[in-house]
Amino acid sequence: MKREENKCTFCGRPRSEVSMLIGGISGFICDSCVKQANDILDEELKASDNTKFGKLKLVKPQAIKEYLDQYVIGQDEAKKFLSVAVYNHYKRLNQVSTDDVEIEKSNIILVGETGTGKTLLARTIARLIEVPFTIVDATVLTEAGYVGEDIESILTRLLQVADYNVKAAERGIVFIDEIDKIARKGDNPSITRDVSGEGVQQGLLKLLEGSIVNVPPQGGRKHPDQKMIPVDTKNILFICGGAFDGIKNKIANRLNSRVVGYNSDRDKDQIDFNNLLQYIAPQDLKSFGLIPEIIGRLPILTHLDPLDRDALRRILTEPKNSLIRQYEKMFSLDGIQLKIDDDVLDFIVDKAVEFKVGARGLRSICETILMDKMYEAPSGKAKSLTIDLSYARERLSHVSAARLRQV
Ligand code: ADP
Repeated sequence: MKREENKCTFCGRPRSEVSMLIGGISGFICDSCVKQANDILDEELKASDNTKFGKLKLVKPQAIKEYLDQYVIGQDEAKKFLSVAVYNHYKRLNQVSTDDVEIEKSNIILVGETGTGKTLLARTIARLIEVPFTIVDATVLTEAGYVGEDIESILTRLLQVADYNVKAAERGIVFIDEIDKIARKGDNPSITRDVSGEGVQQGLLKLLEGSIVNVPPQGGRKHPDQKMIPVDTKNILFICGGAFDGIKNKIANRLNSRVVGYNSDRDKDQIDFNNLLQYIAPQDLKSFGLIPEIIGRLPILTHLDPLDRDALRRILTEPKNSLIRQYEKMFSLDGIQLKIDDDVLDFIVDKAVEFKVGARGLRSICETILMDKMYEAPSGKAKSLTIDLSYARERLSHVSAARLRQV
């Protein structure tokens, strides 16, 4: 009598119809059921990962921008671009692939003069989002073999904020500040070896492209006995920022030659030479010294506007944690109500413009004006304190622009 053929306990197909049948104590499973079970497991784990790192609730781009508006003055374009990028990043992480359309990540590059709010934007967005987020400085990076930190150490910080949870870090966002400092200097890098230039960019490219990178858990330089942690950068979003000093000339040259080329005076009139960064294009980054491959991996290019007098005035009082609010709070902790006259605020802005210290200088100007009061008032009896113009003028009369710039 013919022995009955073994069957898969799950789908019922006999051994002759499947490639492989694995036997257990009381049943069998075929290769295709193993595969199916594995897929189900993967999906489930993915879903539980989402909950574990805080279910990624999709905050819509407009809501992200509204949040940024509470802390950062102006910079509408950069805010919009960042909001969309973060929202899309979340969508990518949440996506369950049911078809062949896989949303690819879009890393961002922000170009703006120093002190116009690049880092502030990054910090503010970090408070809102639920994935691991870190800010790193590109200036410390060097090519392997030179003094400084290896490129991979960029991810060390991300691992640290994710408590070394690799899966969480692999979904994070990294803000790389001062990306312009790794630009190639000069057009011929082969004559003098350019330690902080092209080699570093090649290394960075690996991270941006998405690859498995061995990360030193403690950062710094790799050394042989340190155990590396492999991290897949495919889903990590990179936001780069830089001042790109001198790039305005390159933009102006490009625009001028275009205008001349078209031979139209009207075009030239329409160019706003006070804010050339708004016309930035990928080729300007290339002439500045970024390699085309890096530029290609930073497909979203946006700019920050220079801060004019009006913006500086708003920065003093409008953001939720504006400087003036901070000083008011500081005095109120001693039971003192601080009042700063409006013309003092205008005066502070005038000085920031005159000394060319930008938004960063606002704090040092305020410190200078308020220092004596912060020293004396806590020991005094007065419950209120008014700063008027003549007092502010007198306080600042002893201070040089150079000192304010140092802060
Ligand atoms: P960047 O990174 O562009 O060099 P930061 O973001 O570090 O400049 O800005 C320096 C400081 O100036 C911030 O901490 C903030 O106090 C102030 N500041 C700059 N730009 C803005 C802005 N657009 N809105 C509000 N504050 C700003």
